[in-house]
Amino acid sequence: MKRWNGWGKESVTYLLPSRAAQFLENLLGQGTPPRDVSLVEVIQTVQVTRLPVHPLVSFDTITRLTHARGQSLPDWVALRSGKLDIFPDGVAFPLTHSDVHELISYAKQSGSRIIPYGGGTSVVGHINPQNDMVPVLTVDMSRMNRLIRFDEKSFMATFGAGVNGPDLEAQLRARGCTLGHYPQSFEHSTLGGWIATRSSGQLSLGYGSIEKLFAGGRMETPLGMLEIPPFPASAAGPDIREMVLGSEGRYGILTEATVRFTSLPESEEFYAVFFPNFEQGCEAGRIIISEHLPLSMLRLSTAAETETSLRLAGHERLIAALEKILSLRKLEREKCMLLVGSSGAETVTKMSRKIVVKIANRYGGVYIGRSFGSHWYKNRFLVPYLRNTLWAMGFAVDTVETATSWSKVSAMVHALELALRDALSDIGERVHVFTHLSHLYSTGSSIYSTFVFRIASDPDETLTRWQKLKAAACNAIVAQGGTISHQHGIGVDHMKYLQAEKGELGIAMVRNLCKTLDPEGIMNPGKLIE
Ligand SMILES: Cc1cc2nc3c(=O)[nH]c(=O)nc-3n(C[C@H](O)[C@H](O)[C@H](O)COP(=O)(O)OP(=O)(O)OC[C@H]3O[C@@H](n4cnc5c(N)ncnc54)[C@H](O)[C@@H]3O)c2cc1C
Repeated sequence: MKRWNGWGKESVTYLLPSRAAQFLENLLGQGTPPRDVSLVEVIQTVQVTRLPVHPLVSFDTITRLTHARGQSLPDWVALRSGKLDIFPDGVAFPLTHSDVHELISYAKQSGSRIIPYGGGTSVVGHINPQNDMVPVLTVDMSRMNRLIRFDEKSFMATFGAGVNGPDLEAQLRARGCTLGHYPQSFEHSTLGGWIATRSSGQLSLGYGSIEKLFAGGRMETPLGMLEIPPFPASAAGPDIREMVLGSEGRYGILTEATVRFTSLPESEEFYAVFFPNFEQGCEAGRIIISEHLPLSMLRLSTAAETETSLRLAGHERLIAALEKILSLRKLEREKCMLLVGSSGAETVTKMSRKIVVKIANRYGGVYIGRSFGSHWYKNRFLVPYLRNTLWAMGFAVDTVETATSWSKVSAMVHALELALRDALSDIGERVHVFTHLSHLYSTGSSIYSTFVFRIASDPDETLTRWQKLKAAACNAIVAQGGTISHQHGIGVDHMKYLQAEKGELGIAMVRNLCKTLDPEGIMNPGKLIE
């Protein structure tokens, strides 16, 4: 079963070694475990529904509660403190296109708003009902999850848009194929959600992010069905497929999507290279990416993230031995870890590893083999469970992300980390910040910073701390000329920063598109743009 007020399955726990907990306490001070409210207490706050009865709509209070928030930090504070205030009035689980059509008509007739819901893993407030005077219907797509068509010859498969990561991959893998799309939220996020938020996966360097993988589909809008044929390429005017990507539920409900898959690779490997410092690692990464090697992942951690990963990993004797070896090669406190993934024919992955190591050596890089890479691969979906463990200890953890060109990467990392580190200095609270470059491109890179801070005994104060941190980070991103999101999207939390990026005319174009498909403004209002 999924946790109702945290991340992931109730049966999975991330156990933090005691030395690792001590490491965090040394950095931030002792955490005070918060007093979280119980499910029973929160259920009592769910208001009476304002929606009329309909056979496709559930009014069950637990269902309404579990669809009320996503996974952002404000969502966590609301769920853990019981201060939700607003819930969807009903939740529907359509099975067919005509069910979705019927639900849109029902929403129009009842004067309601619709929130399309995939896996509810949004971290920017995408699926939260707004404090509106009208009823809210959440449409959970999880039952529209079937493999509809498999076109082996064209390397395309069509799925119900509500299919989640593991089910989609299982269907493709059973046929010797893979989509290769692995956001860290893979276990619970869905194909429709990935498309609507322009998601990137951990191996997107090799397989492509969702904008490359999404070939076409069907969207039920308040004005009728929008069909997007899955052409391999087209010069027939502006690309409607591109317009649907990142639409965040504002145009309609994506009911099915066709994706471009690839054959399962013959081999797949992950290994680590350590650099003397971040600048040298960055330069090596920039050169490696320009070689267009068959790599699936390049992920470069700053010194602070490298140190944090080593301390949190446990295995103290192994890490001590590694650090001794690196120290002999003059890699000390500023050392940075680059994780490399490679997939394809065995001869090709071997050859690409040789080239990567050769380039890395030029920048003082030391190849340490596959054990770290394999450990990362094995635990890549376990890491988010650390949020639950840290919360119980009295620490909150969140991330911010952006992308910018190579000439600005160093300055952006510096500005982002500084902004976050200083954001709570006025109240004497420390913030632990660490960063990695998660997706490298020939023109630049995405930048992903994690910040950990202490939870206050008053949930409102915890929220205020987060608001200061988020505003400091977003303002730094805008000031340094980065995009306000590389992969998480806009939702509510990034909305006010969007204009700086799109300009007045750009915002007007998006707004007009929403109005064209949804003239009455019933689709997920208050998200993406005002
Ligand atoms: C621990 C964790 C790790 C994460 N890691 C990553 C990562 O590595 N990469 C990444 O890109 N993101 C990541 N995310 C963010 C999140 O998982 C993505 O934004 C994901 O794409 C959301 O998918 P979902 O199915 O959960 O959508 P939801 O959260 O349910 O919805 C997100 C938005 O999509 C819309 N939507 C959903 N389904 C449909 C549909 N069928 N039709 C129309 N609109 C729809 C919703 O209305 C909403 O606006 C992470 C989140 C968490 C909590």
